[in-house]
Amino acid sequence: KGVVHRICSGQVILDLSSAVKELVENSLDAGATSIEIALKDYGEESFKVIDNGCGISPLNFKVLALKHHTSKITDFLDLQSLTTFGFRGEALSSLSALGNLSVETRTKDEPVATHLSFDRSGLLISERKTARQVGTTVTVDKLFSTLPVRSKEFSRNIRKEYGKLISLLNAYALIAKGVRLVCTNTIGRNSKSVVLNTQGSSSIKDNIITVFGMKTFSCLEPLSIHISESCMIEGFLSKTGHGSGRNLGDRQFFFVNGRPVDMPKLSKLLNELYKSSNSKQYPIAVMNFTIPTRAYDVNVTPDKRKIFFSDEGSLMHSLREAIEKIYSPSQC
Ligand code: ADP
Ligand code: MG
Repeated sequence: KGVVHRICSGQVILDLSSAVKELVENSLDAGATSIEIALKDYGEESFKVIDNGCGISPLNFKVLALKHHTSKITDFLDLQSLTTFGFRGEALSSLSALGNLSVETRTKDEPVATHLSFDRSGLLISERKTARQVGTTVTVDKLFSTLPVRSKEFSRNIRKEYGKLISLLNAYALIAKGVRLVCTNTIGRNSKSVVLNTQGSSSIKDNIITVFGMKTFSCLEPLSIHISESCMIEGFLSKTGHGSGRNLGDRQFFFVNGRPVDMPKLSKLLNELYKSSNSKQYPIAVMNFTIPTRAYDVNVTPDKRKIFFSDEGSLMHSLREAIEKIYSPSQC
């Protein structure tokens, strides 16, 4: 049973960034306005996500890392109108199977915090009081140490995994309003260095200025596309050459209802349309789709980054028209 669990967990948590993504989304679900991600050796040694959210009630300590434990669905119908990021109760259980999981947490009703650690099968193995503000810290030491082959691959690719993580954190920094996001990395015995620090401004525009800088922001055009009554796309797109061609998609961020997603088809469309009006470069894009939850499915892939629209054809058509307008010669 243990092995099956580990293999399945390996599918929810594919790499460093999907592990951290689950924890950051838990913090956002908990209403945190400050989230710090602390890495040791780029995350290879350990990573922590520290938040000031609502904390976890002692009633949930025992079941916290058990498979399919979630506090987020109270009614099956909730699935239709889900607003939280997680709901399958798989992240903590997967992390406990893949590394050493511990949690420190305190709700506003508790006078002190509690430190919890879990074994490979998600069972609570120790519990002690500790000092902490209201909120939660989840720590994972030695991710993938339970899967020797994956573990080797993880070490070998750590810089690449770290790069992917930073890009994901940039995505949250762009979309999350009023959430302070900090990421630090400590290499060996050195002191920790801050690799990302956003103060949580109140608009995407201000977030873009924080993440990309004013110079980049000034090359962007606001974008607002009404597809239908309940469906719209808002964001910013670069009109003049500025995006670095070094890494395709480097500065293209897509969101559905505030959730970072991969949209390779849209990225391809943008690059095509942009190229026909500009030179070798790629456009910068920050685009958030506001769409009713019934019109798409995010849970087809385990890491929830790919989404499927029920009417993708007409959506892409409207997008093409709107983007073509921005890139048409008469506008330049
Ligand atoms: P899910 O997010 O799908 O519910 P997880 O395994 O990610 O499942 O988390 C299990 C449960 O642990 C959550 O439903 C939530 O009640 C609690 N939890 C996890 N992380 C946090 C956090 N940072 N703050 C508050 N509660 C948390
Ligand atoms: Mg979750």
